[in-house]
Amino acid sequence: MKRLAIVLVLLMATSASAWWPRGHGVLTRAAIEILPSDFPVFMTSGVGVIAHSAVDPDLRKWIAAEHPLHYFNAELLEGKTLPESRFEFGRLCASEDIKLERVGLLPYAVAESTEQLAYALAEYRKWPEHPYIQDKCLVSAGIVAHYAQELCQPLNLTIFWNGRGEDGKPKNTRIHENIDGLIQNLELKPAIIAADLKPEAVDSLMGAVVETMSGSRKHIEQALALEKFLKKGVDYKSEEAVQEFTIQQARAAAEFTATLYLTAWKQSASIKLPGWIDRGKMDHFGRP
Ligand SMILES: [Zn+2]
Repeated sequence: MKRLAIVLVLLMATSASAWWPRGHGVLTRAAIEILPSDFPVFMTSGVGVIAHSAVDPDLRKWIAAEHPLHYFNAELLEGKTLPESRFEFGRLCASEDIKLERVGLLPYAVAESTEQLAYALAEYRKWPEHPYIQDKCLVSAGIVAHYAQELCQPLNLTIFWNGRGEDGKPKNTRIHENIDGLIQNLELKPAIIAADLKPEAVDSLMGAVVETMSGSRKHIEQALALEKFLKKGVDYKSEEAVQEFTIQQARAAAEFTATLYLTAWKQSASIKLPGWIDRGKMDHFGRP
């Protein structure tokens, strides 16, 4: 048992990856395509900056505090309900004697980055012409996209993140990287991913995160079963099972990203900014 624990720790210590950079770019463009026409136009015309920023969290994921934001090893919680806040979650882990960084914080990264976007959008509502605020919203939306899309890679949500052996234990088969590369390697187009998706704002942000996470976890077995195709010498791009999984998760990721944008926009309407901030006076809009 102790040996298993050590193996688990070693395997999990290296977890965390992402849809490859072009994958995040394509998913983010698909998400922007499905936003309704009354969504702020600067966000749709700024899609290039959003897609660019959607890669950023992976550039810094080897910072100790950033790393656990990219995964969630749900099995370690043994079915316990996910608390609303990161701090309650910390207390839950402590009470169960589980190291927080072994489980990961991805659901909280999704919710918290969306709340931060809501604040940037609240500033936009107050100073709609301010160029720096618009820039801030675009970068912030990119960060939301990254974590939202990570939540739709089923292997980010399991201790079998890099494969499972015949003994039913985690095994380093390198399947994670192969799954991560699918959106990029299958060259999915944003318009194909986006077809007929109709995202809507939600009332409970954490509720939507938990629901999307359990939806993604239902596809862990489907992902692991692709291992036989994702090998050297196999024409995996022509395999129906590979294509089906990739488009299904890509659509889930794009729709969830857009859902979070709409939710942040809705939340921003009721955010009250402090009276001491006046972006117009402070920043002079670039004029002396
Ligand atoms: Zn990541």
